[in-house]
Amino acid sequence: MRVGILDIQGDVSEHLEMLKKINVEGVMVRYKKDLDSIDGLIIPGGESTVIGSILKARGMDKYILDIKIPVMGTCAGLILISEKVDDKDGLMPILKISVSRNAYGTQRESFETDLKINDVGSFRGVFIRAPRIDEVRKGVVLSYFNGKPVMVKDGRNIGLTFHPEIYGDERIHKLFVDGLD
Ligand code: GLN
Repeated sequence: MRVGILDIQGDVSEHLEMLKKINVEGVMVRYKKDLDSIDGLIIPGGESTVIGSILKARGMDKYILDIKIPVMGTCAGLILISEKVDDKDGLMPILKISVSRNAYGTQRESFETDLKINDVGSFRGVFIRAPRIDEVRKGVVLSYFNGKPVMVKDGRNIGLTFHPEIYGDERIHKLFVDGLD
């Protein structure tokens, strides 16, 4: 089992640590060819416009869709795999959901909260200029915050509006990896 972490921008090393904790080999994914040797891909948070334009320039967006690699997208990563983003077509429509970018406010309004997550339990969620999920057309919602979905799973794909890698709690990574078998 090898799980890739998209290494273009964002908190890549924290995700690698989480995989180490559950004894899964983490692989840095920078170019298209790196996608051929992995069983699943984590797209970390960062700035979705920056990550998206590099994915496009390297031909990786179409390839990720073509080879149907399971993806876990967090925050900016979620934005990149959403079907609709701010009412426009998203880059890689893997999750049939609609999101609004930066809907919880600016960097200063970033916050943490204790979430209840189905199949995981209580979990400290860190929201950093997070997107908001406005509609889920397919898949199951595993957690809500203030009445809005914050974690969605559809088949082997998972999307989260918060960062699961900050506090060293590996349970969400385990949920993703367990689904890859
Ligand atoms: N605000 C960022 C964006 O729109 C996402 C922030 C994050 O990934 N923490 O891409």
